[in-house]
Amino acid sequence: MRRDTQMTETSSQKLTKTLTLYNTLTRHKDVFQPIDPDRVTMYVCGPTVYNHAHIGNARPAVIFDMLARVLRHLYPNVVYARNITDIEDKIIEMAAQEGVEISVITERYADIYRADMGALGVNLPDIEPKATETIPEMIAMMERLIEADHAYKAEGHVLFNVPSFPDYGQLSRRPMDEMVAGARVEVAPYKKDPADFVLWKPSSDEQPGWDSPWGRGRPGWHIECSAMIEKHLGDTIDIHGGGIDLQFPHHENEIAQSRCSHEGAPFANYWLHNGFLNMNSEKMSKSLGNVLLVHDLIEQAPGEAIRLALLNGHYRQPLDWNDDVLPQAKAQLDRLYGALRQLEDVETADGDHVPDALLDALLDDLNTPKALAELFQLAKLANQASDLGEKAKLKAALLQSGFLMGLLQQDANEWFEGADGSLSLDAEAIEAQIEARNAARAAKDFAEADRIRDALADAGVLIEDGPEGTKWKLAG
Ligand code: AMP
Ligand code: ZN
Repeated sequence: MRRDTQMTETSSQKLTKTLTLYNTLTRHKDVFQPIDPDRVTMYVCGPTVYNHAHIGNARPAVIFDMLARVLRHLYPNVVYARNITDIEDKIIEMAAQEGVEISVITERYADIYRADMGALGVNLPDIEPKATETIPEMIAMMERLIEADHAYKAEGHVLFNVPSFPDYGQLSRRPMDEMVAGARVEVAPYKKDPADFVLWKPSSDEQPGWDSPWGRGRPGWHIECSAMIEKHLGDTIDIHGGGIDLQFPHHENEIAQSRCSHEGAPFANYWLHNGFLNMNSEKMSKSLGNVLLVHDLIEQAPGEAIRLALLNGHYRQPLDWNDDVLPQAKAQLDRLYGALRQLEDVETADGDHVPDALLDALLDDLNTPKALAELFQLAKLANQASDLGEKAKLKAALLQSGFLMGLLQQDANEWFEGADGSLSLDAEAIEAQIEARNAARAAKDFAEADRIRDALADAGVLIEDGPEGTKWKLAG
């Protein structure tokens, strides 16, 4: 009972804080006011599952996980949906190449996606709707759009008629001729207007398809998100997110479909877009051969360091990925875990100890670089503290702030021992070398002791002698 009362008090205190978010719709930082503070809704466009996610794809996953954590810190009930696009022409092509059903491909890559993002501390969303499980809702939405003259059927297709929605283009703020060129929409003879886009298209006998009032076919990409949002979150949601590249045409089309099938009701009140991640200042692309897969990266570095590297930049800015990024993030985590390690025997203080400055940074349009600076300040204070009560509070502050950012939840010693699999030398072998060095020192054979220390350093293992014996860590 006591716990419940405490929690209520804490959350009402937190609700007095103001979250501001840069809203692409208004081009301003707006104060976040949910439609219903007891059910905050967020939708993020998820992966199309036919290949491995690259580090650029991980950026929205980590950023919107970060936002979900902040929202959960403030509000008692947050419903976060991130979809799986499991029907798409590239999926169909790949399934045909392998001679398997599309579900074999989509389940394989959806599992890999969840595991890869999990390694970066990305929690599963509350709802993970699949396009193939939302076909009846898509069909119903298209029927309403046709009924209201916003869509029409033509040669087995259903198309959205862009001129029927005068607000089209409000999100991306582009003139219509630029949008038509930018969308690179197919110029098909059956289109009433060159900007019209496909909601439904026919499937051949070999292609996967579903029966519909317009014949056997499959949905276009944009209608999927609109229908999944309507089904799971409602007509109007609080936050819609995705990468900046999705702003046009994908998000513009989602707005058109959803508003026109809901009598003009607003679709999403806050639109958030993450900036792009570049490789050594170049676009990541297969043709340049610089695509870095999360699946490979997590073999080489702790997932937590990859997450921190992604949070080191502000989400709206472009982020440059280069060879220095991960060693830097690893060294930063060494500092933070180093502070926690020396508080190992200190009991964590009770209560809420997330510092105001850190929370305020996150509430200011997710200023993660500033929040991280506050986290390092905590580590510095923890390293300097001598009073036990102070240490207990700083430990709580580090752990709670870390939790809020999806960091610092490993045991500090395990971090230094690379328990997440990033260790190249096995821990037992390192301990054996340290014992041999200690034996050499006891025998006053300092040349041998130094040789062992240098050999370990060459293998990327740093050792520190302290009052409690010799500790080791991997070089950052
Ligand atoms: P896709 O699978 O291409 O639809 O992308 C999935 C998500 O990753 C979308 O939200 C994209 O906006 C985002 N995304 C793709 N490439 C990058 C990149 N290089 N940097 C940041 N986000 C990206
Ligand atoms: Zn979408």
